[in-house]
Amino acid sequence: MAVQESPELKSLEALIASSFPETLSTLSSISLAIPANSDFHFFCNFDEFKVPINEISQMSQCVLETVGGSGHFCGKSKSFLGVAHDWLVNVNHEILQRMDVALDENKEAKVSFHIATIKKPQHEYNILVNNANLPFEHVWLERSEDNLHFIHPVEKLSVMDFLDKNIAEIKPVKPLPLEGTPFKVVEEVNDLKDLAAKLHGVEEFAVDLEHNQYRSFQGLTCLMQISTRSEDYIVDTFKLWDHIGTYLRDIFKDPNKKKVMHGAERDIIWLQRDFGIYVCNLFDTGQASRVLKLERNSLEFLLKHYCGVAANKQYQNADWRIRPIPDVMTRYAREDTHYLLYIYDVMRIDLHTMARADELSDSPLIEVYKRSYDVCMQLYEKELLTVNSYLHIYGVQAAHFNAVQLAIVAGLCEWRDRIA
Ligand code: AMP
Ligand code: MN
Ligand code: ZN
Repeated sequence: MAVQESPELKSLEALIASSFPETLSTLSSISLAIPANSDFHFFCNFDEFKVPINEISQMSQCVLETVGGSGHFCGKSKSFLGVAHDWLVNVNHEILQRMDVALDENKEAKVSFHIATIKKPQHEYNILVNNANLPFEHVWLERSEDNLHFIHPVEKLSVMDFLDKNIAEIKPVKPLPLEGTPFKVVEEVNDLKDLAAKLHGVEEFAVDLEHNQYRSFQGLTCLMQISTRSEDYIVDTFKLWDHIGTYLRDIFKDPNKKKVMHGAERDIIWLQRDFGIYVCNLFDTGQASRVLKLERNSLEFLLKHYCGVAANKQYQNADWRIRPIPDVMTRYAREDTHYLLYIYDVMRIDLHTMARADELSDSPLIEVYKRSYDVCMQLYEKELLTVNSYLHIYGVQAAHFNAVQLAIVAGLCEWRDRIA
């Protein structure tokens, strides 16, 4: 049966006969790369993302109207057009909806802990990662005489070496306002050299690390924040990966230089694993908070309690691999060390004036140094795949598999580890 052919139908049929379906399918798969859910909200903070997305959204609305307007002419191509129409409606709806949600929350963006579009730092920055199923070698440490153990440099020192000499004379040094504090992002070797020179000249500094472990075997240190009494630094550990140990190893190991950190258990391990850095002379404000029996032991609480600062902790779990680091995240990272030396001052005084628990126990200040000593002394151990690893996979125990099924799981587990 002859169908009355209109110009619109002719051009549509030409379109369908050409590479349009292929393009559509490519587009459809590319659309998966558009960050979804919380990622989308996060990206929408940046005009680089928001502006083009807005344009795409308007364009697809136009295409939709054209297709929608000519659809009813078609006979045989109706089903294809129907599919294309549905697809465009969905994409468009999805984009508009996500934009609405993102723009609604104009106060604070939701922060994503994993941005799928970020390339692996080890590829992007040529970072050598040893994922071999072999124990971690502490190449910077001496070994015990029987060659079985590594010796942490702090083991040759005593807790008493780190105790403050003139504790009664400590006067807390108020932190500078964040805005008025000199700040440097360290991403060149020369800047790292300058930072090391600065640290050689101070008696104490505050340190913190940001880290990423999601979809990663061992995790990677993403940033190192350092504050002295007068300056804040953020070291881009990706850019300077192979140089950090060279310039900072001796400073961290120096027993005459106090390192102030908050809740350093993980940081101590990350420093060893990624940079061969071993810390001597730590004051952990998290441990001090426990000894002082404060209401809470989080840094957020200490910032409020001692400095009256309301920290924005929503970035704690952000994807710290992001580059360049957004301003809001830079601010958050600085806040993690900026106030720490002042908190350390006040805490030492409070610990000094605090009564001992009983006659026999250590003074509270010594107790904090003891605990901090123990935090330093841990040694990184790589998690290895063993013949029993598959038993720890979530749900395997509860599944009550028979021997054959278990053997299959074990095989799959081994295969997955190798491929990953
Ligand atoms: P922080 O010392 O609080 O800055 O945390 C250091 C790193 O620990 C962050 O960069 C995160 O990788 C990780 N981390 C801290 N808190 C959390 C959390 N609540 N959930 C997941 N990861 C966290
Ligand atoms: Mn930390
Ligand atoms: Zn931090």
